[in-house]
This record gives sequence, C-alpha cells and structure tokens, in this order.
Amino acid sequence: MAVFQHDVLIIGAGLAGMRAGLSAQAAGADVAIISKVHPVRSHSNAAQGGINAAVDEDDTWEDHAFDTVKGSDYLGDQDAIEVLCSEAGGEVLALERMGVIFHRDETGHLGSRAFGGQQRARTYFVGDITGQALLHVMYEQLIKQGLRIYEEWFVTELIVEDGSCKGAVVIDITSGQMHVIGAKAVIMATGGAGRVYEPSTNALICTGDGISLAYRAGAPMMDMEMVQFHPTTLKGSGVLITEGARGDGAYLINADGDRFMEKYAPNMMELASRDVVSRSEQTEINEGRGVDGCVFLDMRHLGMDLIRERLWQIREIGIDFVGVDIVKEPIPILPGMHYIMGGIKTDVWGRTPLDGLYAAGETACVSVHGANRLGANSLLDTIVFGKRSGYDAAERSKNGHATMPGEDYAVEGEKKIRALLDRPLNGDRVAKIRLDLGKVMNEKVQVFRNEDQLKSALEDVRALKKRYDTVGVEAKGKVFNTDLLFHIELGFMLECAEMVCLSSIERKESRGAHYRVDYPTRDDANWLHHITCSYTPGGPQLGTAPVTITRWEPQERKY
Ligand SMILES: Cc1cc2nc3c(=O)[nH]c(=O)nc-3n(C[C@H](O)[C@H](O)[C@H](O)COP(=O)(O)OP(=O)(O)OC[C@H]3O[C@@H](n4cnc5c(N)ncnc54)[C@H](O)[C@@H]3O)c2cc1C
Repeated sequence: MAVFQHDVLIIGAGLAGMRAGLSAQAAGADVAIISKVHPVRSHSNAAQGGINAAVDEDDTWEDHAFDTVKGSDYLGDQDAIEVLCSEAGGEVLALERMGVIFHRDETGHLGSRAFGGQQRARTYFVGDITGQALLHVMYEQLIKQGLRIYEEWFVTELIVEDGSCKGAVVIDITSGQMHVIGAKAVIMATGGAGRVYEPSTNALICTGDGISLAYRAGAPMMDMEMVQFHPTTLKGSGVLITEGARGDGAYLINADGDRFMEKYAPNMMELASRDVVSRSEQTEINEGRGVDGCVFLDMRHLGMDLIRERLWQIREIGIDFVGVDIVKEPIPILPGMHYIMGGIKTDVWGRTPLDGLYAAGETACVSVHGANRLGANSLLDTIVFGKRSGYDAAERSKNGHATMPGEDYAVEGEKKIRALLDRPLNGDRVAKIRLDLGKVMNEKVQVFRNEDQLKSALEDVRALKKRYDTVGVEAKGKVFNTDLLFHIELGFMLECAEMVCLSSIERKESRGAHYRVDYPTRDDANWLHHITCSYTPGGPQLGTAPVTITRWEPQERKY
C-alpha cells in the first residue's frame, strides 16, 4: 500500500488521456496517467474511418461547425462546437507532424473521404485503421516525453475532500495491491459505456467506469439519453464496419436489392446522419424488407484495388466473422450500439462543476455531439478537448490543495474489496447479469423508443441492480483477479444504464438518436435543453441545463 502524489492525474490512456497528458506536461505539470489496460489497447485503437477537420483551402471551419450543429439536431452547445471545429485543422496537422501517416491523394496533398451528415469530404484517415495509427504515434510521444504511466492499474473510487477532487483509489491489477494517488487536478478520460448494450461495437473494457465514478463523486452527467446506434454493425457480433465504406461509395440494399435510402434521404442517401440511416434500416427490417433481421452493405462495385488500399481490415472482418468476402458479396449489417453522446458535463476547458475534476473524450459531454454525433468527430473531440483539459488542469495544479489524501483511503478500499470477496456465492454470476443487462438495453432502449418499453427497461435494470447487490466473486486470488474487476465494472454499467433509461423516459420528444414513437416530432418549445443527472443516495436526480446557441438558429433537419 502506497501513496503517490502528482500535479495532474489522468485516468485513461486512450487518445483523450494521452493528448491531455502531453499538454499538461508541456504546461509544466508533473503528470501521471493510469490505465486499466496497456495504453495501446484502449478503445481508441479500434477507430477505423478517420478524423474530421476543415483543412482544404476551400473548406471552412464554419461549414464544419454548421454540419455538426445540424447533426446534433440543435442540442449541441454551439460555443463548444465552434471551439471543436476552429481548432480541428491545426490539430490534424499537428498529428501529422508527430508522425501519423495520413492518406495522401494523387497530388501528394492530404486526401480525405466523405463521412455522413457532412456537405463535403473532410475526413482524414489512415486506411481503415486510423485510431491505431493515431494512438501508436501518440504513445511514442508519451514515451519520448517520459510521462509516468501506471499501466494495468484500475481506479475504484475518486477521492473528494472539502468539495474538491483530490485523487483516486486504485488497484494494481498485477499484484492486487491498493494504493492512493493524490493530485491537484484529476482528468477523467475513461472512454465510453458501449458494453452496457449487447452487442456493441465497443471493446469489452468500455464499461462506463468514468461516468459512474464521477457521478458517485458528485459531478453531474448530461445528455445520457443520447445513445448512438451505428448503421453498419455486423450481424451477430456487432463488430463495426466503418462509415468510411459508405464514404468511399458502398450502398445499402434491402432484400429486394433496392437502395432504400432513396426513400428516406434522397439528397445524402447512405451518407445522411447516423440516426437517420439507422432508423431507415430498422424500418426496412421491421416492414419485412430485411433478411434475418439485417439489411446489406454492398461494396462489390468498389473493386479490389480500392478495398485493398482503404478497407482491408473490413474485408478481413467480413471473412473472419460472417464468412463473407466483401469483394464478392454484400455483407449483412444492422444498427448497433456504438457511442454515448452523453457523459460527464464539462465546459470547453474540460472543467466539471466538481472542483478539481476534469473530463475529456467519450466519457465527457461538452456537449459537441448533442443528440447525434457525426462520424469522425469523436477522434477530433478527444484531441481538441484532451489538449485543452490538460492545459487547464496544469494551470489549476499551480494552486495546490491545503491537504492531500493519505493512506486511509486505500485501507478503506481494501476493506470493501475484502467484503466483496467474502460475500457468499449464491449461484448467480456477474457474467450472467451483464449479459441480461446488455440484452434489456438492446431490446428496449434502442433506435425506436416508447414509454412502455423504456419504463420496463428501467424496472429490469433496477431488478438487475438487486441481483448485483448479492452476487459474489468466484475467483479469490490477488494477481490479475479479472473476476473481481468485472464485478466492479458491472456496478458502473448498471448505474450508467439507469441514467440512460431515466433520461430517455424524461425526454418526451424525438431529437437525433432519441426517437420516441409516442412523441415523433422535435419539440423545441419544451425540450431545447439538456437533461442532467446528479447523484443522490436514492438514485439519480434529473435536472436541466440550457443549450448554448451562438449563430445557428434551430431549423428543420433534412438530408
Ligand atoms: C470500433 C470503433 C470505431 C470507431 N471509429 C471512429 C472513427 O473512425 N472516427 C471517430 O471520430 N471516432 C470513432 N470511434 C469513436 C472513438 O474511437 C472513441 O469515441 C474515442 O476513441 C474514445 O477515446 P477516449 O480517449 O475517450 O477513450 P478510450 O480510447 O476508450 O480510452 C479509455 C481509457 O480509459 C481507461 N480506463 C477506463 N476505465 C478505467 C478504470 N476504471 N481505471 C483505469 N483506467 C480506466 C482505459 O484503460 C483506456 O485507457 C470509433 C469507436 C469504435 C468503438
């Protein structure tokens, strides 16, 4: 058991955490990053399609911002969207200078591909492995700068004293030892909560830890009803087939071979925003024009050369997971859980309302994505707001706390773990509850929602919480006790799920990804505001926060 001290502690080593770390160190802080997996195994590594920026001379950040505002169905905060889009170009070029080998066109310039919901191609990419290319380059920078990384350490709790966040209680997974890491500023960069649904495109580690940890510590969550279903996830496993495929010209077809998007989005077709395409597919499936619960993504006409250059991983995924070679056959896909627009409420510097606590990346809600995120705006979000939060946290850390947390938090933490390990087994299993949770969310809180289903989902989640309160941990060892970690993660996931259900019941209109068949239109008069969730011992308390509008007044959204 030990106590470590740093100026800035960053929880999470995906793109947001790494970018925050570099920026905090450059601003003069002593920084440490903690990650429950090796940094390059963070989910950012799985990003496929690319990162958006207005880089071309005839593109403007204002056009990118408008597309983002419209994509968000006017729920995004426009001051934050202006920051996101105006800083994008410089950040993408900075990534290239760090060593990311972005795709170049025949003229030798940075070459982009089209992505959904945008009037022009402005997505910069590395084949279909953009996240991997970015994350590895960023990791090289961390090593070069000598940042302290506590890798394979797991945060169980944030420490809040006198109204300020002062660090975290952690388990060193390799030894089972508990420690305290004290810090003058803490940045949550723990990624999303995809696995609250089953299936999901997200890695198994995306369990909403940061959302739940910050919520328990007293920071408010925002937009939790806004869950993105990606239009092209693979039948069965839910593995992602990048939107870049449609950007490069792939079609969506139904059982009759028709390009059905003609009916739903005649201008943008397959490149309408994700919420629109997902609902269109689901309508085709529900009305009997699908096959076995799916429609198809057709890439046959793209040809081997383009697929070899840009979509090679997708081809391998098709062959490995469903036995389909995209060069020769259409591949079965359906809408599936991909991203959570909601998360820890922050301002444009990553500051949460809880003093000393910051958040950046998918775990945060700035809110730049509002009710629907545009593809390739999330990598951008991690970089822009990772950097800003790192800088501001470093500045803040120049004014220390009067006292710092001591070892007693680790002693308390160890007692809680011991009690969990001593809990008798009752025949139920963590894995079973987790799967039941995922299925409930996937069936009842999905592309089309209604009050009865949402209420029934909430009841189910609460029943699962009761089961969770009595389920034991089967493995009792100290070294790499993943059974114990899964138990703790399940607690985080259940809390996230409860907030998603409650906020979805609350919002009685249809906006972006939140489509209520019982309230099928957008209702700006009553619902042009964010929904927040704050911790109380009796469960989440809902509130509201205003939407910031700077220059784009809400209009009807058509693609
Ligand atoms: C398959 C897939 C493809 C995607 N493609 C794109 C794309 O092309 N373009 C785009 O813009 N977006 C894309 N996205 C979305 C984007 O990749 C993510 O939103 C983004 O990478 C999240 O980055 P992050 O840094 O916030 O979190 P992550 O990369 O998920 O990292 C989270 C970090 O937190 C750590 N952590 C979590 N909990 C704990 C804990 N309790 N203790 C210690 N550490 C913890 C983890 O170890 C990890 O290091 C894609 C997402 C998926 C799933």
